Amino acid sequence: MSGRVLVGVKRVIDYAVKIRVKPDNTGVVTDGVKHSMNPFCEIAVEEAVKLKEKKLVKEVVAVSCGPQQSQETIRTALAMGADRGIHVEVSGNDYETLGPLQVSKIMAALAKKEDAQIIILGKQAIDDDCNQTGQMTAALLDWPQGTFASEVTLDGDKIKVVREIDGGLETIKINTPAVLTADLRLNTPRYATLPNIMKAKKKKIANVKPADLGVNLTSKLEVLRVEDPPQRQAGMKVETVEDLVGKLKESGKV
Ligand code: AMP
Repeated sequence: MSGRVLVGVKRVIDYAVKIRVKPDNTGVVTDGVKHSMNPFCEIAVEEAVKLKEKKLVKEVVAVSCGPQQSQETIRTALAMGADRGIHVEVSGNDYETLGPLQVSKIMAALAKKEDAQIIILGKQAIDDDCNQTGQMTAALLDWPQGTFASEVTLDGDKIKVVREIDGGLETIKINTPAVLTADLRLNTPRYATLPNIMKAKKKKIANVKPADLGVNLTSKLEVLRVEDPPQRQAGMKVETVEDLVGKLKESGKV
């Protein structure tokens, strides 16, 4: 096979950062906060680069939709081995309301424009936890999907995908073109080495506007309120089982 793979790489607040909710409850604080590539997108990039190294695909294109800084996320993908990048510029209010449906429309339009055979996305973005973009992209393109992939094997124009499902694994075979979403156990993403980071600086990142792709970013979703999870109440120590039962009775739990 000699196809092209599009990989979606989302810039999110770094997984190690403690998230703070804005005082007015409209969202979370992002200013001055460390951002990185969504961890499941790193797995998606790794899988695409492996396919290229096995000469099963000819080109890996990293796509990120978001503000200017999304180019840093694309650079990381390029340093991991992607061949080129596409930055779909979304800022201001459009960025605030950018969600799976809007990104799916962009990915679907790019897949057609770039004549892609495979789209690999993360199974989930750790900021919105939506787990929808892969599925919606497949639906918009009317392509088969292999979601929650923990093993991917290309076989001509077919892909065998082992999927992580509740309590076990499911193996499916789908035709290309197809959409895959990467689960945690698919691979261990490589680190971008310094020489590869330097090399990545020479790789091209194209700048595209959603309107160039004929995509309207209007969102029908309105976030009403964002809150911290409820604080856990302090516990207490009891000496005996009788004490425990007594306390439970007192609190009306028994
Ligand atoms: P979600 O459906 O929001 O949980 O995101 C699942 C996956 O869709 C991510 O791991 C990315 O691969 C892709 N994705 C979501 N948002 C973006 C974005 N703004 N830019 C590029 N890829 C994205």
